[in-house]
Amino acid sequence: MSLEESPAASLQSLPDVDDRSPSNGISVLVVGSGIGGLSAARELWRIGCDVRVFEKQPSEVLTGDSFTIGPSAIGSLRKFPRLDREVSLLGCDPVMRIHNLQGALVRGPLEMKDILSAEVRNSIKCKIFRYSRPRLYQAMLTHLRRVGVPVDHGMDVIDYFENESGKKAGVVLQDGAKLDADLVIAADGIHSQSWKTVLDRQVPARPSGDAAFRVAYPIEVVHDDAMIGAEYPLLDGGRPQTLAYFGPDVQVIVHRTVDEISWALLHEDDGRARESWDNHPPVDKALEWIKDYNELPKPCERSC
Ligand SMILES: Cc1cc2nc3c(=O)[nH]c(=O)nc-3n(C[C@H](O)[C@H](O)[C@H](O)COP(=O)(O)OP(=O)(O)OC[C@H]3O[C@@H](n4cnc5c(N)ncnc54)[C@H](O)[C@@H]3O)c2cc1C
Repeated sequence: MSLEESPAASLQSLPDVDDRSPSNGISVLVVGSGIGGLSAARELWRIGCDVRVFEKQPSEVLTGDSFTIGPSAIGSLRKFPRLDREVSLLGCDPVMRIHNLQGALVRGPLEMKDILSAEVRNSIKCKIFRYSRPRLYQAMLTHLRRVGVPVDHGMDVIDYFENESGKKAGVVLQDGAKLDADLVIAADGIHSQSWKTVLDRQVPARPSGDAAFRVAYPIEVVHDDAMIGAEYPLLDGGRPQTLAYFGPDVQVIVHRTVDEISWALLHEDDGRARESWDNHPPVDKALEWIKDYNELPKPCERSC
């Protein structure tokens, strides 16, 4: 990169893929445009497949706060230089501190690696980063669009099939339409119906018994809120921080990055939790769980 070149311009100059194999004539249908589906689509496109992605949501869903992605998954971006660079710019490396519910520090400062078991920690050779899920998702989706892989929204797959010769697989959509391909990848999450085709029985996801309230705000919103703005600054050198407050019944986690702050409350599922990344309960419903703990951080009044 020349000294005059801006980061945006340097990204533009990177190729979308190191080397794409010639078309192999294999058609692929990926069901689900979560991180898993988008990753499969990207890799299959690279080896020359003709790929399309079906997603049941009517448009891209940019909810969610942040998640941690380990070196094995991030390594899969190596052959996509531009996306790899875009994703590396999104990663953040927070310092962690763990407190009890009365606000006293019990462990920390810690690096993200320090919370892994010794065996896993020793096997990892590089840093682990935390990513804004909406931004990472958007970067992956934009990459696929750039290279011409269609991601079709509003395509609700209700069933899967194989034809009798076993040479084609396919999906049935909500409106009854049937579409087939040489290969179908079911990346439609924990309620996928694909087990009917490939397994002799359903292996259902097991409830953990826990539920979580989560919210993320752009920092401009939070700066108006004296409590959060003052108590959760960036650390020296602008480093992000993650503050956890752990007790037997509830855990609260605050994650402060350069331009965002997120708040999560984990609690026992009393049967009222609804499984969704797009649910907007009132703040009071979350605060009920921590009403006896005055020292715990609370979300902004404007949460919704
Ligand atoms: C909107 C959203 C926000 C999230 N936010 C966070 C977060 O902030 N922090 C975190 O730790 N994890 C978050 N997750 C979970 C995390 O992304 C996943 O656990 C992880 O990435 C595994 O990804 P996946 O692609 O296997 O499954 P998922 O991420 O669950 O993706 C499955 C996709 O398949 C689609 N789908 C489901 N059924 C059908 C169907 N019948 N037909 C077509 N498409 C279908 C879903 O709409 C979804 O887009 C979020 C997931 C979603 C969907």
